[in-house]
Amino acid sequence: MSDGADALIERLKTVKHIWLVLSGKGGVGKSSVSTQLALSLYNAGQRVGILDIDLCGPSIPRMLGVENQPVRQASSGWVPVYVDQSEQRLCCMSIAFLLANKDDSVVWRGPKKSAMIKQFLSDVMWGDLDYLIIDTPPGTSDEHISIVEFLRAVNPDGAVLVTTPQNVALADVRKELNFCRKVRLPILGVIENMSGYICPHCADCTNVFSSGGGEKMAEEFNIPFLGRVPIDPSLTLMLEAGQANDFNGVPSLPERFLKSQLAPV
Ligand code: ADP
Repeated sequence: MSDGADALIERLKTVKHIWLVLSGKGGVGKSSVSTQLALSLYNAGQRVGILDIDLCGPSIPRMLGVENQPVRQASSGWVPVYVDQSEQRLCCMSIAFLLANKDDSVVWRGPKKSAMIKQFLSDVMWGDLDYLIIDTPPGTSDEHISIVEFLRAVNPDGAVLVTTPQNVALADVRKELNFCRKVRLPILGVIENMSGYICPHCADCTNVFSSGGGEKMAEEFNIPFLGRVPIDPSLTLMLEAGQANDFNGVPSLPERFLKSQLAPV
C-alpha cells in the first residue's frame, strides 16, 4: 500500500463512523443538513468532526460561525478548528480556513482538488471522533470520486442523500443514488429537506413545493427514508448569521434516524 494510503488509514483509525452527505444539485440544503447532523450528534454527547470538501463553495465554517478562525499547523499535522472551545468535541476543517481572502475563488483542476482532499483526510489531526461528517459539493464530480477512493480503505458507513421534494431535484438525486451504487458506497438513506412550510402563527403546513417525492423515491429504490425537514425561517437566519454554534438553537434532524444510528455506539 502507498505511503499516502498508510498515512490516511493511520489518521482515521480513531474515527468510528464516517458519513458522507450528498445532493444531486446545489441549494437543496446539503450543507445545512450536514451542519444539523453534526450538531444533533454533538448534542447527543458524541465527539464530532465535520469536513467540508465543497472546495469551490465552502459554507460550513460560515454556518458554524468560525469563518475567520485560523488553522494551526502543528508538528504532526493541521489542528482542526474547534467550534466548542471548552469541551473540544466539535471540530471542523475546510478550504475556507486556508484562503487568504474569504472571497477568493478556488479554480483548480481535478488532480489539485484530489490532493487537497487527501491532505484533509491524512494531515488533519482529527483525534478520537465518534462521527466524521463529510459535506461534499453538489452533483457527482472529481471530489466525489476522490473521496470515495480515498475512504475505501477505512470503510465509511455510507452516504446520506439530501433532496427537496420537487421532481427536478429528485431526478438529480437518482443520479447520486446510481453513483453510490456504481462506486459501492452504502446508502444510509434520503432526507427530504424544505418539505413544507409550517406557519409559526397557526402551525398549518403549506407544501411550497410538491411533497412526499423523497419518500416515494426511497420506496422505489428500496433505501431508507430518513424523514422530512420543513422550511424553517429561523434556521435560515441562524445559518446565515453563523449562529449554528448556538448548539441548542438549531432544530435537530429526523430523530428516528439518529436514534437508530446512535443505538450501537
Ligand atoms: P446546499 O449545500 O445544498 O447548496 P445550503 O445548505 O447552503 O444548500 O442551503 C441553501 C440555503 O437554504 C441556505 O441559505 C440555508 O440556510 C437555507 N436552508 C436550507 N435548508 C433549510 C430549511 N430546512 N429551512 C430554511 N432554510 C433552509
